[in-house]
Amino acid sequence: MSMVIRVALDTPLRRTFDYLPPLEAPTMRAGSRVRIPFGRQQRIGLIVSIEEQSELEIDKLKRIHELIDTEPLLDPPLLSLLLWAADYYHHPLGEVLISALPKRLREGAPLQVAEECWSLTESGHALGEEEPRRAPKQRALLARLRTPTLDSVLADQLQEHMPGWRETARALLKRGWVQCLPQAPPAAAPPPAAVLGLRPAGNGTPVGVHPRLNEAQQRAIEAIETTPDGFRAWLLHGITGSGKTEVYLRLTETQLRAGRQVLVLVPEIGLTPQLIGRFAERFPQAPLAVLHSGLTDGERLQAWRRASRGEARLLIGTRSAVFAALPQLGLILVDEEHDASFKQQDGGFRYSARDLALRRAQQLGIPIVLGSATPSLESLHNVSRGRLARLELPERAVTGAQLPTLRLIDLRQERVHAGLSTTAVTTLQRHLAEGGQALVFINRRGYAPTLACTACGWVAPCLHCDARLTVHRQEQRLRCHHCGADRELPRQCPQCGYAVKAVGQGTERIEESLTETFPGIGIARLDRDVVRRSDQLEAVMERVGSGAARILVGTQMVAKGHDFPDVTLVIVLNADHGLFSTDFRAAERLAQTIVQVAGRAGRAERAGEVLIQTEYPEHPLLRGLLTGGYEAFADAALEERRQAFWPPFSHLAALRASGLQVADPNEFLDQARQAGEALRADSVRILGPAPAAMARRAGRYHAQLLLESADRTALHRFVAAWLTRVETLPIARKVRWALDVDPLELF
Ligand code: ADP
Ligand code: ZN
Ligand code: ZN
Repeated sequence: MSMVIRVALDTPLRRTFDYLPPLEAPTMRAGSRVRIPFGRQQRIGLIVSIEEQSELEIDKLKRIHELIDTEPLLDPPLLSLLLWAADYYHHPLGEVLISALPKRLREGAPLQVAEECWSLTESGHALGEEEPRRAPKQRALLARLRTPTLDSVLADQLQEHMPGWRETARALLKRGWVQCLPQAPPAAAPPPAAVLGLRPAGNGTPVGVHPRLNEAQQRAIEAIETTPDGFRAWLLHGITGSGKTEVYLRLTETQLRAGRQVLVLVPEIGLTPQLIGRFAERFPQAPLAVLHSGLTDGERLQAWRRASRGEARLLIGTRSAVFAALPQLGLILVDEEHDASFKQQDGGFRYSARDLALRRAQQLGIPIVLGSATPSLESLHNVSRGRLARLELPERAVTGAQLPTLRLIDLRQERVHAGLSTTAVTTLQRHLAEGGQALVFINRRGYAPTLACTACGWVAPCLHCDARLTVHRQEQRLRCHHCGADRELPRQCPQCGYAVKAVGQGTERIEESLTETFPGIGIARLDRDVVRRSDQLEAVMERVGSGAARILVGTQMVAKGHDFPDVTLVIVLNADHGLFSTDFRAAERLAQTIVQVAGRAGRAERAGEVLIQTEYPEHPLLRGLLTGGYEAFADAALEERRQAFWPPFSHLAALRASGLQVADPNEFLDQARQAGEALRADSVRILGPAPAAMARRAGRYHAQLLLESADRTALHRFVAAWLTRVETLPIARKVRWALDVDPLELF
């Protein structure tokens, strides 16, 4: 009987490849990486299964060159999650498997290695920070090793941060100040009590610094923890500041005590340092790993390794962390589950990390908690269908803290100067005089969204997109926020030579006008331009946290995760763009943003106030939010979706295409449509092709076809059959195309 190894490769082909085991035939197992001959190359692939037969003749099969992992990189449940994902998102398996791995592992880096660990010796510890005086490199390396949190630093990490460090390290080694010790990977998980640094719970009194749980928190935790082991999905619906994080922490503690790992998914790590901080502080001894796009390849490999060996007991990460190997996973937490960044929206493999997390929990038979103050309509719908069990935290956790009052400012009735209405300015004055802090939210970074000529009407266009260039005044640049085009800010109109002026407002301009209106008051700004460097984010947080800045101006970023107890006023400058969008999800997003931003006010004892500037104070969405809050909004919005037959009452998939000529994507989508119609699937509607809202982006023309069905299974059956035809269309080679299952952004 022969042994055939089925291997997936990083290719767009929807198939696997069969090989024979290497001659020395070590134990081959699914989930391990192998080096294989492929054409004239050698490639790295992942074993998907071990078969007894192949559709090809056995003696035609090539042999695997080498087995890279003696222990599978992906354990059976993780492998089956990825197989499921490839199927559900109709994406080639090889690309799915590969995209789950950090780059270094894709390239063949070993998972099991004895690490080289560097640390200070006793005499190294005894050195002063300014020693050795004449050797700055040595001082820098010593400083790096003098970290308070770790007792040693991995060679890998030194390599990432200090190229050329090794020579310095040798010099320090000779002087006896540092040592290098190999550290074998631990064989098994450390005992939970040691991990937690906990005293035995004994009488059930919590250890460490815990606030006393309020009743709602207690009820939520009890509900989750008294449910028999197994899969259960919970929606922790708690208003902003209701203490959801405290619930996460308690649930985590129980899991850590039981010797299990916990996965925490967050929308954007840069914006949640406080969340990481709170986990690190609560479980000082529990090894924590963090996975996000800001890491270097070496750091990412390191985090993945620690998680996969069970060494890291807690993993906090963004989207792709849902694929991390966690052999003892006992609980998944998804914070801010409504956030759109859980959905991979571009590239080939477009998945929802939240939905995959649910699937992963189900496959493993473990609980999962989705938390939010503004749950997605999908999740609320799942509550009503009994798929999610809702737990509510209806009140603010800090005693005396109240939800702020919301008020609309009618922009048609007020004098507006540089984006700020008179009411906004006087209210700001009052709150500042009373010692409060304020948050000013505007959904646009830069100085102004448009540069226009005062004489001929010319506006600065992006040459590659159907968009205008944004003025960045501090840096004296014009930038496209869609394709990154970047050029010098002109002083005169290139068309007629007359003066140009910036039209409209962005964060930079609001910051400027606030500085003029409130001289002597510290003002900070938070947007993507400011936080390009992660230390700047911390600097801004520090200025606001310490009170040095009294007003914080920013984009969405200000809405996420931060807890500033002295913020008493929130002003939303432009709510209107979400009111009349063609995207059926725009209203949901606007409501979520308003509620989240508003939630930053009045988190401590002082009452909060929220002002929303609008030209449409009668708009039902705004009125609904004001009178009934998010829940009333969500009820109404779900009813609208039901009537319009939009998700969650129907299921969607979008076929997106782009090309250098406008005709190509349209032709491709037309032919794709015909191929679809030929399949005669009655329950699937095909809509389009339609151009994207911004048809031309970065020099390419974008269009899409939308598939809609009430029956998810029927839709997927249709797509599977349809794609094999779409792929073989000759025109498919002239465009870039991708299928987006459960798309979040539609037009
Ligand atoms: P959320 O994540 O729901 O916005 P947090 O968990 O950040 O809320 O809690 C908001 C504030 O309330 C934090 O400062 C937190 O320390 C505090 N807090 C949470 N639970 C309690 C409690 N049971 N008693 C007192 N304060 C609490
Ligand atoms: Zn002009
Ligand atoms: Zn552009």
